[in-house]
Formats: sequence, structure tokens, C-alpha cells
Amino acid sequence: MALLEVKNLCVEFAVRTNLNSQGAVKALRDVSFQVGAGERLGIVGESGAGKSVAAFSILNLISKPGYISSGEILFDGKNLAEMTEKQIRNVRGNRICMIFQDPMMTLNPVLTIGTQMIECLRAHRKISKKEAKSIAIDRLAQVKIPSPDKRIDQYPHELSGGMRQRVVIAIALLTEPELLIADEPTTALDVTIQAEIMDLLVSLCEEHKVALILITHDLAVVAEVTQRAVVMYAGRVIEEGPTRDVIDNAYHPYTKGLIAALPQQAQPGGRLNQIRGSMPGLQNTPDGCAFHPRCDFCFAPCQQQVPEEYLAAEVADGQHHRVACHLFNPQYTEQAKQAIELK
Ligand code: SF4
Ligand code: MG
Repeated sequence: MALLEVKNLCVEFAVRTNLNSQGAVKALRDVSFQVGAGERLGIVGESGAGKSVAAFSILNLISKPGYISSGEILFDGKNLAEMTEKQIRNVRGNRICMIFQDPMMTLNPVLTIGTQMIECLRAHRKISKKEAKSIAIDRLAQVKIPSPDKRIDQYPHELSGGMRQRVVIAIALLTEPELLIADEPTTALDVTIQAEIMDLLVSLCEEHKVALILITHDLAVVAEVTQRAVVMYAGRVIEEGPTRDVIDNAYHPYTKGLIAALPQQAQPGGRLNQIRGSMPGLQNTPDGCAFHPRCDFCFAPCQQQVPEEYLAAEVADGQHHRVACHLFNPQYTEQAKQAIELK
């Protein structure tokens, strides 16, 4: 059984359409994915694809006017989407922890790092302040904070951005969670330290056998860090499979575009390849395949019918590589062939 299984999750945001009537825009449409114990899953896409909404909805952190309109979020077999706030509080920050782009979303600016770590430890375990402090110092050393016995008495603003994110990682692991969700954890940091922090995160997840959901716009990071990858576009999952396979044998035209746009793919001195157009807004998602206005392969059904997820390939160990594109719809094999030839 998967540790976390998200099934057909739909999230909507209520909007006022005119003076008296209420409507809703769909931010997530039928999103499904799984994470196994100790596994690292990457969720990748441009901003506006719904990655963060997916992450926040797992822990019931979407704020109004957003809400889960249907679907299940099974963690260890229990549906988080149906839990009361009190029940989910036992899971959040305990069995599932979240790391945000901005460390200050987690850290309290008016308390020292030590106070925050000690409080967190003592909320979960019956230990003395002294014991908690020594564990906290140990954990700060583990995330490679120099002179942890001195740093522990400092306030968040006395640390650099990279140091703060190290502290956040240390705090996230204090309760020995089974799953960490990291939403763009290095995006706000200097390029020079991004890789260091990512390496640290991965090695700690391995060491503590914690599963990781890494949300990022950076496919290169997903390639380096994760075992399975989910690609999102306009609120849907459009491709999913073992990361190596998704990168080496991408099937969806959008994923192919993302790979072609990686800086590593550019000729020296040449220009970066870019996917033409831009991601649609929530209020004007095109009918049919939401990617169709940007797709070079678009053919008749694409403008009307939302593609389901089709099996693109069976990969080693019985794993599947799935793609939501009509080019792989068995119903349109002949038309798809023509669309590819025309290109
Ligand atoms: Fe392109 Fe059609 Fe596939 Fe969408 S369904 S990605 S428009 S070929
Ligand atoms: Mg985001």
C-alpha cells in the first residue's frame, strides 16, 4: 500500500461572477498520484500549474475561498480530506511536515531558534528542557549549522536565508515524520547554496527513511533528486512515471517542451528553447486538452475532449509511465499518426 495516495482530487475556488451569483474556478482537476514509504516524488510544472495547491490540499491548508470539492487523500489508509481540523492537526507537523519556499512561513521571528525547537520537541515527547536542548543542538549540527551551541540562542533574523532553511529542515525532522512536503524549498536562496540545501534535504530523508514530495518548477532538480515524477499543467497531471523514464523518454508534448527548455539543452552561445505561449489562467482554461493552443501536434479531438491518462509504456519492475494526451488514445491511433507526420 502506498504511504500517500491522492485520488481524483478536485479543488475549486469560489468566485463572485456578478452581483448576486457565485461561481467557482477549478484549480485542480482529477489529480491522482501516490508516494510510497521512503520514496521521493517530484511534482513539476510552470507556476500556475496547481503544484502548490496540490501540496497545500494534502494537509488541508488551502484557505478560503478554496476548498476540496471531491476526491480522496489517503494517508496510511485514512482519508485526510474527511478529517476534522483537530484530527488533521495530529498528522500535520507530526507525521507529515511541510517546508515552504520562505523559511519565515515556519519560523517565529520573536522566538530564538532554540526556544522553537525545544517547544516543538516537548509538544511531542515527554522530555526535560535540558534534554530537548541537547537534542536540538544535535539536530542543528546534523543540518550543518556551524557552532550550533551558540546559534541555538539566536533569532531567525540573525541567520542568513540558507541557514534559516537549514533550521526549518531540522525542525521538520524533529518529530520523525513519515512524509515531508517541500514546496520550492530552495527557490528563494542564492544559486550558490541551492544545491547544498537540496543535497542536505535528500541525504537526511534517506538517513531518516522519510518520503519526500518535492514541488518545483525545475525539471533538472527533479531529475537529480527524485525517483518518480509527476508533471502538471493547468491543474491536471499530464505525465507520470519513474523520473529517469520521464526525462529520457518524455511522451507528452509539454514535458518534451520543458526538457528542450532546460539550459543544459541549449547550444553554447545559442538561445534557450521556449515553449510558445503561456499557461492559461484558472478562469480561461481552454476546452479539451488545456495545452492545445500551444501544442504543435494538436489534432481534431484535442480541442474538444479532455484526454484521459493512457499507458505510454510499461517500465521495469511493473511500474507504469502514463500520459494524458490523445496521441496515446487507442481510439485515435490513425489520426495521431497523421498528426505526428504532419509536424
Ligand atoms: Fe497536444 Fe493533443 Fe496531446 Fe494535447 S492531447 S498535448 S493538444 S496532441
Ligand atoms: Mg507554487
